[in-house]
Amino acid sequence: MDTKKINRILAETAYVRMGGSAEELRCAEYLKAECEALGFEAHLEDFEVQMATIKTASLTVDGLDIPCKGYLNAGSAEIEAPLYYLPSDDACSLAGCRGKIVMIDGYLGYWRYQDLLESGAVGFITYDGNANYADRDIDQRELRAHVSKGVKIPGVNINAKDAIAIVNSGAKTAKIVLEQDEYMGTSRNVVCDIPGETDETVVLTAHYDSTSLSTGAYDNMSGCIGLLGIAEALSKKGCRRGLRLVFCGSEERGLLGAKAYCAAHEEELSKISLNVNLDMIGCIMGKFIACCTAEEKLVHFIEYLASIEGFGIKARQGVYSSDSTPFADKGVPAVSFARIAPQNTATIHNSYDTLAVMKAEQLARDVDFLVTFVEMMTNAAHSPVSREIPEKMKDKLDIYLTRKRDKAD
Ligand SMILES: [Zn+2]
Repeated sequence: MDTKKINRILAETAYVRMGGSAEELRCAEYLKAECEALGFEAHLEDFEVQMATIKTASLTVDGLDIPCKGYLNAGSAEIEAPLYYLPSDDACSLAGCRGKIVMIDGYLGYWRYQDLLESGAVGFITYDGNANYADRDIDQRELRAHVSKGVKIPGVNINAKDAIAIVNSGAKTAKIVLEQDEYMGTSRNVVCDIPGETDETVVLTAHYDSTSLSTGAYDNMSGCIGLLGIAEALSKKGCRRGLRLVFCGSEERGLLGAKAYCAAHEEELSKISLNVNLDMIGCIMGKFIACCTAEEKLVHFIEYLASIEGFGIKARQGVYSSDSTPFADKGVPAVSFARIAPQNTATIHNSYDTLAVMKAEQLARDVDFLVTFVEMMTNAAHSPVSREIPEKMKDKLDIYLTRKRDKAD
């Protein structure tokens, strides 16, 4: 894929595009047009997502106003309670949560939220950002539907610098005021078909939405460009199996686009010989990885192919936190590819994920390898990857999709 086109697409999509927003729709239309420019039919497939508009969100700690953003879909409430910092999810630390507004470290995942509810927390505070960066950015977070399961306590997100100051000061009380309108909205996948000669397909996925502060060049317009690059190259060579590109919406909100796709296309899933997912490629520095939620043979095949092609890859079996996971969970063998940047050279989910962390020449090289791999899988006489998802992968899927709690968690 030529580097001029890569840079053009990165420049033209350099805006925030959260799942369900007007900007996400704008980007969907843009990708549809890029597919059409290659000569393929493409269409948008809508799906419902929970939306919210915050009317009031405030956090007061010991009488001082702390800049915050309210959690979307965490209900509306006004609550004042003792403040408690929860450093760990051990039983002793959790015992201190009862009746408190609880500040936690890291993301509010399903088990963390269940812990808070079970231990009697009445509200929560999360924080993000880096204490050493000059910015005071605050990400817009949401209480995901699969995390709350409809049981809501109010929460806010703040900047790490304020979180440190609050804990350091030994603050005693907190007050959260959260008022919002919650409603159902629309997100969408962009689906583009390159017809083949058999009824089998290889489905390529990459999400195009971003988080609230990020223009998502690396995470994940890079993967979308990868899909377009593969389509462009293979359309000239012809495909035995059909190739379907799915640009997924609302991945950052919990893989909602891929989940919606698998639900809407359940009957066709048995005809997918492989899902190839791209999430973050083409950054300046970092190692290329393949994470196979499939039989172990695929790991070795990728390693051999990479060696033959002179392209360094670390391949492994596992579950990648991206759109490949809903496919694998439905029995479709899946592999995610990514170029993982060294810590702090290209961070994601913040305002630093921009064109500046990307290198078009590297992205083009990554796409070249992916074209070789996808071409083999698309044109194989017989699809070589077993449709059997190994038991240990099913176990990891159960943990990732929170049907089971990780013993080490
Ligand atoms: Zn991503």
